[in-house]
Amino acid sequence: MSGQIPGGGCALVHSGTVVGAAPGPAYRGRVVICRGRVSHTCPHDPVPVDAAGCLVSPGLVDIHVHGALGHDLTEAAPAAWQQALDAHLRAGTTTVLATLASTSPARTAAALATAAELLAGEEAPTLAGVHLEGPCLNREQRGAHDPAHLRTAADVLDELTPLPGALRMVTLAPELPGADELISYLTGHGVRVAAGHSAATPADLARTRELGMSHLAHLWSGQSALTRPALHRIPGLLEASLASDELTAEVIADGHHLPAALLTIALRCLGPERLCLVSDATAGTGLPPGSAFQTGASTGRVHDGYAATEDRTSLCGSVTPLAHTLARMREMTGAPIADVVTMATATPARAAGLYPLKGSLLPGADGDVVLLGPDLTVRTVVLRGHPYPGPWGGGR
Ligand SMILES: [Zn+2]
Ligand SMILES: [Zn+2]
Repeated sequence: MSGQIPGGGCALVHSGTVVGAAPGPAYRGRVVICRGRVSHTCPHDPVPVDAAGCLVSPGLVDIHVHGALGHDLTEAAPAAWQQALDAHLRAGTTTVLATLASTSPARTAAALATAAELLAGEEAPTLAGVHLEGPCLNREQRGAHDPAHLRTAADVLDELTPLPGALRMVTLAPELPGADELISYLTGHGVRVAAGHSAATPADLARTRELGMSHLAHLWSGQSALTRPALHRIPGLLEASLASDELTAEVIADGHHLPAALLTIALRCLGPERLCLVSDATAGTGLPPGSAFQTGASTGRVHDGYAATEDRTSLCGSVTPLAHTLARMREMTGAPIADVVTMATATPARAAGLYPLKGSLLPGADGDVVLLGPDLTVRTVVLRGHPYPGPWGGGR
């Protein structure tokens, strides 16, 4: 990231079709970026970026990223973070919540300290904070999380006091003892709370919604579903999620986690303003099939287009950057392009409390843009006014 103008670059993206810049229809036009921010004009001879034949979208916002290229973000080395984040940047992801899977308190604290250091030094321009996925999760819904590293809400409250500065989101199981106190503490400090890896009931969701819980981690993955212990059906977290009317939620549209019918149900229930595309991309992203990798304290293995735990009882995150899920979401649900873009930009930015600085091209927003071909593959990435070549990692 050397050679940058302090405060960002100046660019004029022209001749493309602008989509998802702000609420409203796509339009033919230009996006002016002045010193790293979207602007009406720029007097500094901005670098022209020809978007002919392309869609011009806000940079992609991925609020659930564990790593790439063999680096899991629970590694504390800043260089590991930079390599993983750079891989996602080249794929089109200009804003990342670094997501830490369940691991030891010491490793979690070290990774949070690395994030704070990178944020303070502006050494990781796409990093917007940390999303702790765990370790206060329901054992029955743990998925690929290492059961040896799950902890109680009281333990996690203790670990997160005082609040680490880089923390922006926590995924937890709201039905566990002590969760209410933890949720109140987090939301009271402006941290977003998501229900995930959980068997929460509709009543748990309603109660914790009152405490500020606002988001749902990956629908269907790590969620309890309908049971019928006797005559009557009892909804699980899945059905409570689909019936919710205010919460935002994540889907992983990598072609392996959810078939088309389930993505369609999620989109019909929540709509593009509440449904976020996330990658859940692990350290296995960008590695060849057969490679082993760490995610938190767990080990995963890369297969052809997906990753699984070593015992193959669970998928283990994904190996797909966010950009590659746009075309799949469109293919599998028939969603309009503008809606797919919203689900990868404005909606996740809102869920993380980053909108409209991120996920929009409104004046004053960060000058992060991706140019998408008609097939929704990333052609060029612009970060704070600096053009980058794309895409990274070959085709879909
Ligand atoms: Zn998960
Ligand atoms: Zn995850």
